[in-house]
Amino acid sequence: MLNHLIFVLNCGSSSIKFSILDPTTKKKHLSGLVECLFLKKTYITWEYLKIKYKKYIGSYISHKDALDFIFNEVLLKQQDIYNNIIGIGHRVVHGGKKINKSILIDSMVISFIKQAIPFAPMHNPANLIGIEIAIQKFPKLSKKNVAVFDTAFYQKMPKTAFLYAIPYYFYKKHHIRRYGAHGISHNYVAHEAATILKKDFDLLNIITCHLGNGSSISAIKNGICVDTSMGLTPLEGLVMGTRSGDIDPSVVFFMNKQLGIDVDKIHEILTKESGLLGLSGLSSDFRYLEKNYLSNKKVKLSVDIFCYRLSKYIASYMCLMDKKLDALVFTGGIGENVSLIRQITLSKLYLMGFKIDIEQNCLIKSGKTGFISINDSFPVLVIPTNEELLIAKETMKIVSLI
Ligand code: ADP
Repeated sequence: MLNHLIFVLNCGSSSIKFSILDPTTKKKHLSGLVECLFLKKTYITWEYLKIKYKKYIGSYISHKDALDFIFNEVLLKQQDIYNNIIGIGHRVVHGGKKINKSILIDSMVISFIKQAIPFAPMHNPANLIGIEIAIQKFPKLSKKNVAVFDTAFYQKMPKTAFLYAIPYYFYKKHHIRRYGAHGISHNYVAHEAATILKKDFDLLNIITCHLGNGSSISAIKNGICVDTSMGLTPLEGLVMGTRSGDIDPSVVFFMNKQLGIDVDKIHEILTKESGLLGLSGLSSDFRYLEKNYLSNKKVKLSVDIFCYRLSKYIASYMCLMDKKLDALVFTGGIGENVSLIRQITLSKLYLMGFKIDIEQNCLIKSGKTGFISINDSFPVLVIPTNEELLIAKETMKIVSLI
């Protein structure tokens, strides 16, 4: 039976992920990825019936061109599943002040997503293009597009966690606060952890680390996210692939006033030229960094700083728990695959009660779920994220009510 499929679209700043899945059986019927938009060579890869396809789309391809290709050359050619799509779920990074849950898309929702562009300038515009084109391409489903927000998971954070210590009116009048990001992933792995640990989600106390190109960490107390490392934008917090994470804001003034660098360039430096790439001067990709960790001093330093910052965050989030931590969870491309990162980070947290099972840690990669701690440690889990599945489930819930 294929009559309850959801098309999930995740339009990022330089890539588009898409899939068609059944949220009830969790079966993914088709999935694909367009990478390197706006670069010299853009490729699409997709998988259907266990066969993998790869095609060159062209040069300097825009979101719109790539979406045209996805609809015309991939989806329309699989009529059997295409005709059974009953809703479209869109990942939207920022819901701004107005939206705090998944919602059916109408013109009002679109205007709220537009208003939130200053908080996610690299992501919300791309999300909006995906929504606009999906509405055009699926006219029969034009009223069955659902937006699922990364920021929604953080709506119950207390003011103590989300306010910056700047004059209060910046929050009251201009909504400057910490909003968080990656909420869909943190939410998904937190629910998976509850299932694995056989605990009610409402009683769950865990810390989740999503480590990918962008990285963030969330503290979940009694099933509610009480703090997270990303802030007004996804620039705050952990060291990331090309983003600096936390810095003294005076670095910006110094670069501007003493070095004469204009603010747009500083923004670019902090978002695209910093993090692991900036520190190593070589790469932001852990496949490279892991291989060169022992042989290249700069690579070692950049990875050590990544783990140092992460361990400090984990230790500080332990203080937010009012009872024993149920688990620490690693997810994301790095969290799921790079045993080195988990080992260095956990070794710094030994005195806090984290003890790694080195053998298990080395075995867990490539989509595997499992514990990497020994018995008398706080449990440490690796759980592959599945943002598409959570988006599909939310979409199904909402379109079923129409
Ligand atoms: P995004 O934030 O773009 O969703 P991902 O969660 O896919 O990122 O993580 C991407 C990063 O994960 C890559 O930069 C790479 O460093 C790392 N990564 C992914 N797979 C592996 C692997 N098998 N081995 C080492 N690193 C990996």
